[in-house]
Amino acid sequence: MSDKRDYYEVLGVEKNADDKELKQAFRILARRYHPDKNDAEDAESRFKEIQEAYAVLSDPEKRRQYDRFGHNVPGGSPFGAGGFNINLEDILGGDFFSSIFGGGRRSSGGGADIRIRHKITLEEAYTGTKSELDLDLPTECLSCQGTGAEGGSTSTCGTCRGQGRVRVRQQIGPFISDAVQTCEECQGSGFTHDADCGDCGGAGSVQQSQTIRFEIPEGADNGMIMRMRGRGEPARRGRGQSGDLHIEIIVEEHPWFERSGMDLIMSLPLGYSDFVTGCDVTIPHIDGKDLKISVPAKSNSGETVTIPRRGMPSNRSRGRGDVIVLLKLVMPSKFSKQDLKKIKEMKEILDGDLSIIERMENDAKLRRHSSS
Ligand SMILES: [Zn+2]
Ligand SMILES: [Zn+2]
Repeated sequence: MSDKRDYYEVLGVEKNADDKELKQAFRILARRYHPDKNDAEDAESRFKEIQEAYAVLSDPEKRRQYDRFGHNVPGGSPFGAGGFNINLEDILGGDFFSSIFGGGRRSSGGGADIRIRHKITLEEAYTGTKSELDLDLPTECLSCQGTGAEGGSTSTCGTCRGQGRVRVRQQIGPFISDAVQTCEECQGSGFTHDADCGDCGGAGSVQQSQTIRFEIPEGADNGMIMRMRGRGEPARRGRGQSGDLHIEIIVEEHPWFERSGMDLIMSLPLGYSDFVTGCDVTIPHIDGKDLKISVPAKSNSGETVTIPRRGMPSNRSRGRGDVIVLLKLVMPSKFSKQDLKKIKEMKEILDGDLSIIERMENDAKLRRHSSS
């Protein structure tokens, strides 16, 4: 409990904020972080946090308790998940919801999101690809139509008369307010039943193999998340919207390329003579065409050769990255005595006529110049 953020801090208000200030702060934050308006990873958890903070602070009794005990209320927290009901439509305005849900409303009893990971090669990330996956996903139980009731036979909940919500009259000081809460008896579904469905054990959903088809855009990056609306867990008791299926894209390691944004980086190990004379190296590339790397004569180990516009495509714009090749001097693992003798004879040629100090100074100049 202690790692929970302070409710006043969550809403960004003073400890003595009045109802109007609370409502104002909540309205702004809820609009900003509503998961259907905000694609950020943490939008949903932020939204829940904001909702919980407001639910507690806007309720005088709960606020008094919170002010006194903080999150460590004796006998456990009364503010647990789902234990609060805010009429968002009232606070945010009906237009907010119609613009998200196309006129409809998502019930608070919707199904949970599901996340899976999907591996692709760098080549597939380069071109984009159509993927097909066979997954075991929770699906609405057909025997009970997702109600969880044996044979699907439910009866209207007597407590809420099928509304799923009940009005609770509260007295706040001199005021009487009507609050709408989810019916506890039927958990908001409006239905109750006597016997659980035998096929799903009353859960309303069963694991079922499904074929999921989706398209990965060109330039897809590691960690990219594709959302498929409504393909997550079905809503409990067949009421409300299903959750979403989130597919996280994992791009497999390539044998020689590393990715840096849109650029592809590789190192090219070459022998001494290639550095001296220069050379052309042709290798297969992920775009299906050959990649020709031209190493200029008298190159130095540690220098780079850039091949423009052969890197990754952007998944946002028409741009394309470069291939950046790091030239690296590589030694053969064995030399014969004769080889060593020949090399020693060539020492003057190979080493050049600069002293070690001059070489160090030149290299430092070059390095400082190129990095500035
Ligand atoms: Zn069932
Ligand atoms: Zn009910």
